[in-house]
Amino acid sequence: MKHGIRHLYIPGPTNVPERVRRAMNVPMEDQRAPDFPALSLPLFEDLKRVFKMREGRVFMYPSSGTGAWEAAIQNTLARGDRVLMSRFGQFSHLWVDMAQRLGLDVEAIDVEWGAGVPLDAYERAIAADRAHAIRAVFVTHNETATGVTSDVAGVRRLLDAHQHPALIFVDGVSSIASIDFRQDEWGVDLAVAGSQKGFMLPAGLSFLAVSEKALAASRDNRPKMERTYFAFADMITHNDNGFFPYTPPTQFFHGLRVALDMLFEEGLENVFARHHRLAEGVRRGVAAWGLKLQAVAPQWHSDTVSAIRVPEGVDANAVIRTAYERYDTSLGGGLAQLSGKVFRIGHLGDLNAAMCLTALGVAEMALADAGARIEPGSGVAAAQAWYRDAAAEGSALM
Ligand code: PLP
Repeated sequence: MKHGIRHLYIPGPTNVPERVRRAMNVPMEDQRAPDFPALSLPLFEDLKRVFKMREGRVFMYPSSGTGAWEAAIQNTLARGDRVLMSRFGQFSHLWVDMAQRLGLDVEAIDVEWGAGVPLDAYERAIAADRAHAIRAVFVTHNETATGVTSDVAGVRRLLDAHQHPALIFVDGVSSIASIDFRQDEWGVDLAVAGSQKGFMLPAGLSFLAVSEKALAASRDNRPKMERTYFAFADMITHNDNGFFPYTPPTQFFHGLRVALDMLFEEGLENVFARHHRLAEGVRRGVAAWGLKLQAVAPQWHSDTVSAIRVPEGVDANAVIRTAYERYDTSLGGGLAQLSGKVFRIGHLGDLNAAMCLTALGVAEMALADAGARIEPGSGVAAAQAWYRDAAAEGSALM
């Protein structure tokens, strides 16, 4: 028998607000009913506001984010197309793996896990590509495995500087709706997001924002990959009238309606500022423990997730297990080569300062239990000081 709530501080799925959960608790409905578009059509338009785009369109797929990765590639590229990618964590690694398995000719630049997209190496590759063989450049905006945010606008700048026509693909699964993202201004062509992070929904719905240029690329005469379920053309035919080529997850749409309302009620810029404030409190807590982030420099610090390196001789998996078994709290694990070396605190979505203090407080107990020599209370105290200053200045922490 347990009491209280189980705490969830993993970087997705994140906590689903009560308002959103209730909105999803509706009877099943007819997805071909004449009034269904009254629900669906505004969602497409409002998603464009979140992606900060006026041109192009957003697709909603009943898949997790990985499905939208695949949709982006299949609809615009052909087997053998040359693409420029980089790997610096498990998710950027997996996207490279998918591109290779789909038959793309991938130039994958390996970067230490803790840094992000290497603009200098990208620039060299783009500058050398006078024939414009590179058809797409990929950017993992926020690498969830390492807590690293990359500079999407910087990639746009270097393509423009070399007048290179490559499409820009962005993985924004753990950034969009939590960290500033600008589809139009940054000239992003295909941006992937997932429901279970900043959108505060369960996992199972992905969003793919597509520029006019990428829509044109999906229609041009070059041969493309085979695609059926994710085909833009089929989606467009039905989406234009508010319908789908297959049975859509209608309950998700009711949840999404409320989640979007919540984002707009708070204001996107306030959402980003809150994430930054909350993240900074966590980072200060980590510094007070004397521990380091996996992100190797402040320029890479992610406002949605912190990957925290445990001291030599301490097993990060023991920290996570202890937090779960003794204190009913989920912290994120270290993925692939970071297993046992880091634990992660997800600080995104429906979150406030008091919740971050809980995450830090439990992590302190679990770290100490796992043998780390940290001063219990030190991380919480540092974060409290930061949050109290922010509150005194009138900054929102919830
Ligand atoms: N990309 C990033 C940055 C992620 O964090 C994740 C999942 O955590 C994915 C892609 C894969 O998304 P999904 O698990 O929704 O398929």
